[in-house]
Amino acid sequence: MRGIRVWAGLLGLQRTVVEDGTTGSEGEVIVSVRPSFRERDRCGECRRRCGRYDRGEGRRRWRALDLGTTFCFLEAEAPRVSCPRHGVVVAAVPWARHKARFTRSFEDQVAWLACNCSKTAVAELMRVAWRSVGSMLERVAGEARCRVDVLDGLRRIGIDEISYRKGQKYLTVVVDHLTGRLVWAAPGRDRAAVLAFFDALGEERCKRIELVSCDMASWISGPIAERCPDAVRCVDPFHVIQLATDALDEVRREVWRQARKEGNKQLAKEMKGARFCVWKNPENLTDNQRTKLSEIQKTNGPLYRAYLLKEQLRQIYRVSPRKAEKLLDGWLEWARRSRMPSFVKLAKTITEQRPGIMAAIKHGLSNARVEQLNSQLRLITRRAFGSHSADALIALAMLKHGGLCPPLPGR
Ligand SMILES: [Zn+2]
Repeated sequence: MRGIRVWAGLLGLQRTVVEDGTTGSEGEVIVSVRPSFRERDRCGECRRRCGRYDRGEGRRRWRALDLGTTFCFLEAEAPRVSCPRHGVVVAAVPWARHKARFTRSFEDQVAWLACNCSKTAVAELMRVAWRSVGSMLERVAGEARCRVDVLDGLRRIGIDEISYRKGQKYLTVVVDHLTGRLVWAAPGRDRAAVLAFFDALGEERCKRIELVSCDMASWISGPIAERCPDAVRCVDPFHVIQLATDALDEVRREVWRQARKEGNKQLAKEMKGARFCVWKNPENLTDNQRTKLSEIQKTNGPLYRAYLLKEQLRQIYRVSPRKAEKLLDGWLEWARRSRMPSFVKLAKTITEQRPGIMAAIKHGLSNARVEQLNSQLRLITRRAFGSHSADALIALAMLKHGGLCPPLPGR
């Protein structure tokens, strides 16, 4: 075929010799290539130059980016080399990652799209099964993590858990409060997961952590105390508000149960519908919900008091630390005497966690970033990746929210 040099440019190939180009039986373009001399016989794992072992399984194909509307494949020998460290492995090729059946540009483009488009859009546009996208993302993220150390320079971090698979499985995630980026994620929610993060961080960098925010669970606070004894532990404001929302919901359900028992169908129905207007922050209420709320105020004392308790607790995050201290005193007093079991219990929890709660206010820990990241991560977790879901999920999360997403090929 003429213009063989054009091929390398067209396919964005580097350190590669193009031998030939043909068309396959289905109309696909097949380009025969080989690594340039300096790239030959390198270990697929470490890229060290090694001795040739054998021819492997002969010629192989890698799917490349489409040429216009046409499928395109690279075809080359895939010999095996004998690496002193990794044993007998398939030799590295400059156009693809180790063990990949797609070219580097193809995988980079898929990763970029997965960060920016819907699952269906990626699969349709790239003509790949979503299942195979998972392992591509893992390879792209894995390579990026070797290149950039995202754990460097951490001072203020947040540790949290994210559920996936309908709340059956969990990831432990670590975010950087300064950049709002995700810096680490691992399957599970237990001490081991948190300790693994501090292991990855290393002793020296642990010492430099000034502040760690988290929820009130001991599986997070324990390892923090052990590994970063000097760091200030803060309780994330949104976890505190979440507890108040839960307590409020318990009151609402109790009123609903009571009404149903007494045969008050109207009230029971209203309580079911009341859920959204007492949950929402007042500034986000619709007109209808506002009307509903004022009805609750008139007809349902306990529920309205519970609503006020939740709102009052939110206030402590909007005032100066000194005022917050006073406000919290008043709030605790009010909640303890509220005769609503869920709020009495919450008052107890908040009293226990008070140092962490006040530390968050004192250090002006912003909720917005972490909460936003949490909800974005929750969106990612809805994407199923087949069997090896945790790794693919973590890869996508790190690419999208850890700043590891590659640029589009050729840009
Ligand atoms: Zn090797």
